[in-house]
Amino acid sequence: MNAYRSMVLVSSDPLSMERGAKKVFARLQKEISTFGLEDEISLSMVGDVGRNDAAPIVIVYPEAVVYGPVKEEDVPFLVEEHLYKGRIAAGLQAATRELSGRIAWISARKGTLPAEYRIVLKNAGLIDPSIEDYITHDGYMALGRALTEMSPEEVIAEIKSSGLKGRGGAGFPTGLKWGFVANAPGDKKYVICNADESEPGTFKDRVLLEGDPHSIVEAMAIAGYAVGADEGFIYVRGEYLLAQERLKTAIQQAEELGFLGKNIFQTDFSFKIHIHSGAGAYICGEETALIESIEGKRGEPRSRPPYPTTNGLWGKPTLVNNVETLANICAIIRNGPEWYRSFGTPNSPGTKVYTILGHVNNTGLIEVPMGITLREVISIYGKGMKEGSTLKLAQTGGSSGSIIPAVLQDTPMDFDSFTRAGVSLGSGALLICDQDTCVVDLAKVLINFFRNESCGKCNPCRIGNQRAYEILTKISKGQGTLSDLDDLQTISDNLCQLSNCGLGQTAGTPLRDILKYFRAEVEAHVRLDVCPCGVCPMK
Ligand code: SF4
Repeated sequence: MNAYRSMVLVSSDPLSMERGAKKVFARLQKEISTFGLEDEISLSMVGDVGRNDAAPIVIVYPEAVVYGPVKEEDVPFLVEEHLYKGRIAAGLQAATRELSGRIAWISARKGTLPAEYRIVLKNAGLIDPSIEDYITHDGYMALGRALTEMSPEEVIAEIKSSGLKGRGGAGFPTGLKWGFVANAPGDKKYVICNADESEPGTFKDRVLLEGDPHSIVEAMAIAGYAVGADEGFIYVRGEYLLAQERLKTAIQQAEELGFLGKNIFQTDFSFKIHIHSGAGAYICGEETALIESIEGKRGEPRSRPPYPTTNGLWGKPTLVNNVETLANICAIIRNGPEWYRSFGTPNSPGTKVYTILGHVNNTGLIEVPMGITLREVISIYGKGMKEGSTLKLAQTGGSSGSIIPAVLQDTPMDFDSFTRAGVSLGSGALLICDQDTCVVDLAKVLINFFRNESCGKCNPCRIGNQRAYEILTKISKGQGTLSDLDDLQTISDNLCQLSNCGLGQTAGTPLRDILKYFRAEVEAHVRLDVCPCGVCPMK
């Protein structure tokens, strides 16, 4: 292997590709060759680096200089200045995120923890998603350790003692789930990675799958060994074409080098992985609907119990974990549960990946220790609210999350603290809304989404969402009555308590939250025929 003096990375997420990343890459190749630097400079395309504001990005290491947005015609100057003459190419750098300031701020608050400590996104945007690069970054070391030094019970014990909780939204203890599948009777078991990321505003799984597909392949193999499964499926959102392509390549490379297939690491353990492309139904992100979909049936949630841990894919015990949960596994096996517990809070260890959207100065993707507050996310990572705006509310977890009023912005964002505050953490999208956001309009948009995405299997969800949408539309036109608010409350209660699956249960939360935290604003639409934010048509 060459000892390169510089490493140049070009972002290759869909936005970067749309903005000409391939041309930038090709031009870099040409210019590097023109200056005869091929043996000194390593050039790779990497996944999303979380800087949509500056895509396509070119990062030069070891200086870690970030250039962007880079155009094809910028490349000759960049190569001559930085790679040939060793000077930073002035004028091409991406706007900085004041990293040192953020580190100082968060260190003061949390002792020695660095800001944006990356466990899940450790490699994403930094390495080429090839198996060679992955191996040089500790890849398949955790699988080797698990298979050659640990029993399946010991692997599960490590995951349990790490305190890892599922990152899909519910926060169920991962080790406990693995134990249920391992102890379920049956010779044939499956592992499923839920990569059907359809929550509006969330794109963390895509970044991970595109930038570090081998970490998911490796984690699934470890999970298979721990629970006694020899086969796995990755259910990927249909629109994630690049992620699917990279996963296919990763599986093929892992098979060629013996990390998947028969007798892995010359042990008795064999494991294979299939990719299943979703067809665009939001409900297939629900684990039992996802299982039905893999079985070739209509994607409708099953009634539970029995749970997938005993009666999953084709009736066999099945472990279903989402992408972010699995992305923690290799780091835990490599570094141990104590190390993992040093991040986050005692009851919610580790980090959480969030996508920040809305009325802040800086949107994008961050990975931070569990327990950070909304105020910190907005001020440190969002670089404050947009000029002239103040925080009114935030919505966590995409459409299915809670609406959190500004008064709760100092609540630590971890599973227990949010549950105590009566809100949910959700899957990781953080929509920040300012004072001009009308809660009736917001709820109408959300309920419209749910009424379209409801699979229609049960009445509270199929009829409740439609009825709630009609009432909210009426209120937004200034035609609502006070009894409509009572009806919305009843629909919300029915959705939360009587729906068959998570979609219907969470569809009730925006209704519940606007009536609980913003009732005066909703009543103004009804009593005064006024939308205080000037958003609703009121006619
Ligand atoms: Fe289908 Fe909605 Fe019932 Fe879930 S709650 S099963 S999405 S109708």
